[in-house]
Amino acid sequence: MRNLLLVLFFSPLYFYAQSSINCGNTNSIYGKKSYHTGSTGVSLASGDPFVFNIYFHNEQDIIELTENDYLRAVAYLNQVYNQFDIFFKYRGFVEDDPTPLTNMFNILVRETAGDGSALTPNFINISYTTFLSDLPIISHEVGHILGLSHTFQGSPRTESTFVDPLTCEFDPVGTQRETGYFFEDLPGDDLDAENVTRDTSSPDYNAAIAGDFVVDTPATFQEPNVCSDPSTGISYYIYSDEVVDETGTPYLDIDVRNIMSYNEFQYLDNLTIGQGVRMRETIANETILQDRLTTIESLYEPYSGIYRTCCWQPEANENPPRFQPGFDYEFVACSDSSILSLGRPLPWPYDDLTFNTGDVVYSFPSDYDVYEDIVHLNNTAIRIVQLEETPRRCYSNLAKNANSGTIVKFNDGVFNANVTATAKDSLGINDPNLVNNLENGLFLIETNFDDGTQDQKVILKDNE
Ligand SMILES: [Zn+2]
Repeated sequence: MRNLLLVLFFSPLYFYAQSSINCGNTNSIYGKKSYHTGSTGVSLASGDPFVFNIYFHNEQDIIELTENDYLRAVAYLNQVYNQFDIFFKYRGFVEDDPTPLTNMFNILVRETAGDGSALTPNFINISYTTFLSDLPIISHEVGHILGLSHTFQGSPRTESTFVDPLTCEFDPVGTQRETGYFFEDLPGDDLDAENVTRDTSSPDYNAAIAGDFVVDTPATFQEPNVCSDPSTGISYYIYSDEVVDETGTPYLDIDVRNIMSYNEFQYLDNLTIGQGVRMRETIANETILQDRLTTIESLYEPYSGIYRTCCWQPEANENPPRFQPGFDYEFVACSDSSILSLGRPLPWPYDDLTFNTGDVVYSFPSDYDVYEDIVHLNNTAIRIVQLEETPRRCYSNLAKNANSGTIVKFNDGVFNANVTATAKDSLGINDPNLVNNLENGLFLIETNFDDGTQDQKVILKDNE
């Protein structure tokens, strides 16, 4: 990634003095070799989901940011990391106050040149241009915070000339490349270059203890030769048997779409299972990360808006409970199963699943981008597909809004077909004197509610 600046040190002053695009100490505030996936075939058969609080500090005033800009970033992180049961709960933003909240991941949106740098969970720096248009860089920086190294860790490169030039069909000026990048082990480099071989019986095998310490990311070096077409999003490594590792083995396959590699940011979209396991191991062992965790339950709570829990017209709520984008939401029909539910809080507690559920009433995919629409409506419960099948938090406000109705009078004073029906509009059916004003006789009052349900009441009016 060309302009990507990743540095790890602890003095903000030093940060501003840094100008190299090379990452010096790319990892890590954790033990570099502490967490790795030392074998292939690792799986994520892990444990409970991890849910991180995430909070934004706007430290620039060049461009005005809206809450939707922050929500977009959180949605993107969830789309990248949910596959590893790692989730992010949006907790808001502040203007011009860099003071980190110690129970959150703190993302600082800055004016500074350079795209991003991951220092600690308290200082994840992102330039405002990156923040608005290059979201893969945020996932790259968060990857560092969660314990990932660059895939090329310990393997710098040098530019040189090919005997047989490379071919890239997308190059704007000619398809032949006479020069390109080669692995070069620098003298004095104390980081171990990762060798290509994955044959564990080979004396050259070092994937578990070198490079990024993750076995299922192929060995690579910084900025391998890539052929990319921005119009189609195609980007692949150009193989050459002249480009070899320290043992003379050609780099057969390089994951140039890996989020922890350097490629143009728009092509970065991949993380491996091994990287997922390393991140989960890191979270499970580092208190500085555990301190930022929150409950799964929090993902079922709105980031803004209020539930109408009393009395009238829950559907007419002008400030409805809004949910952060980035998940596949299904809102399923739910109803109270007994009159006892009248005493419950609304919506129902996360752990209370004794309500009745039905079909999906409405839903949103994880990339749905009209965030204002993602609200929790009356008589539904929330299913977050990335988490579980179970819908939770039935919101069933029984104080429904009657919108129309019919007064049926049984003219003979008994239930037969001799009736007179009078339609009532919203005003008429909600008239508190509706029953008082009826003449004597036998009536059926049908009431239609906004949610499509209907209520019927029999009235025997006898004022004598
Ligand atoms: Zn980096």
